[in-house]
Amino acid sequence: MTQQNQKPSAGDDDLSQLHMCELKARGLIEEIDRRSTEPTVVCGKCNARANKPEHLHNPRPLKKKTIDSLWG
Ligand SMILES: [Zn+2]
Repeated sequence: MTQQNQKPSAGDDDLSQLHMCELKARGLIEEIDRRSTEPTVVCGKCNARANKPEHLHNPRPLKKKTIDSLWG
């Protein structure tokens, strides 16, 4: 007898509700790429970049010139 059904429910598919940090934690790199094509904000907590502030915990405006080489 094996019980592997420990997941909460079927709401697992709603990636739009997840922040970039959470996507990162789940290894959803593709979704991260999709949201950081033209990043305008950076997370003050985990340094993830995103196109929209609502994708981050601590969104800060991304400075266009200075952060260029930060992520290699
Ligand atoms: Zn974050």
